[in-house]
Amino acid sequence: MAGILVYALHDDEGNFNKNSLGAISEAAKLAGELGTEAAALVVGDVSDEGAAGLGKYGARRVFRARTVPEGLAQPIVDAMAKVISEQGFSYALFGGGLLGFEIGAGLTARLNAGVTMEVTEVRVEDGKLVAVRPVLQDSAVVDVGYVGEPGIIIGRLNAFDASERGDGAAEVVDVDVELSEWSTKARMVKRGEQRGADVNIEDAEILVGGGRGLGEAANFKLAEELAEALGGAVAATRAVVDAGWYPYSAQIGQTGKTVAPKLYLAVGISGAIQHKVGMQNSENILAINKDPNAPIFEFSDLGVVGDLHKIVPKLTEAIKAKKGG
Ligand SMILES: Cc1cc2nc3c(=O)[nH]c(=O)nc-3n(C[C@H](O)[C@H](O)[C@H](O)COP(=O)(O)OP(=O)(O)OC[C@H]3O[C@@H](n4cnc5c(N)ncnc54)[C@H](O)[C@@H]3O)c2cc1C
Repeated sequence: MAGILVYALHDDEGNFNKNSLGAISEAAKLAGELGTEAAALVVGDVSDEGAAGLGKYGARRVFRARTVPEGLAQPIVDAMAKVISEQGFSYALFGGGLLGFEIGAGLTARLNAGVTMEVTEVRVEDGKLVAVRPVLQDSAVVDVGYVGEPGIIIGRLNAFDASERGDGAAEVVDVDVELSEWSTKARMVKRGEQRGADVNIEDAEILVGGGRGLGEAANFKLAEELAEALGGAVAATRAVVDAGWYPYSAQIGQTGKTVAPKLYLAVGISGAIQHKVGMQNSENILAINKDPNAPIFEFSDLGVVGDLHKIVPKLTEAIKAKKGG
């Protein structure tokens, strides 16, 4: 039986990751067009209610591998490979993120499958899925088809929107998975979220991105204070991360995270292509830069030319005053 299987990642409280929910919604939409089924795989401690709840996003069945630990790639590859082989799924879809990339890559090797990564769109053509992915630093897009099954599709972070498709409950199917010997070599010591200004930057609706224009590490407090006033989080460029001014967990771009907040406020950031690819899908981009020719202004909705050291503290005060009043 054909179908699309999605791996749904959850935290220790059983909350599913928004990229996983987006991948289930996307799989359900595509499965509808293919006339087949979207299903999900969950591992670890997930309640009946939590697993069945994925039906709201379009999963018809949820395979639950309770003895497989969440967060480690190889045991999850074992679980995905078993369900795909036994149930005959034609595609595996991942919402993105580091774990999705690692599991997807492992699954590809295990099943000798075809894989497409950083996918931003998937469509149905002649009864098969075609994955669309940007290439050459996002200057072109290519269509990727699959000559065999299963096809592995790994989305770019935030590529697929999570949308509820009614309140149907999914059928929960418990599966026993025998772990490969190498899958037991690593053990989960602790799981945690990387946070900036106490908000996960991939989920934040407002991000203040700080770049080398801040001048020195201590000046990141300008970005932090602005983020706090706006109720958002702080992100960073690779230049400042490499300089040790801010942690890597906040880095946006080609070698960092991909984000799509409602507002991305770039402070002292030039707008290099490697940074742009990580934030260009933001709904609104506002840039403050003293150089009127900075590339960031080419893709900003609003540009402010001036010294950030003068503008940012005033902006923070104005926002605080507005919120207070
Ligand atoms: C393979 C590869 C991968 C990379 N991956 C990433 C990545 O993932 N993410 C990433 O961000 N970069 C990445 N880079 C680096 C990227 O090319 C840029 O070097 C980097 O993004 C520049 O960071 P920046 O904008 O902070 O610094 P700069 O380019 O130095 O820009 C600083 C800006 O601040 C402005 N400025 C200075 N002073 C002030 C002031 N007082 N007020 C207002 N504005 C001011 C300047 O006009 C300038 O535009 C990568 C590079 C390579 C080669």
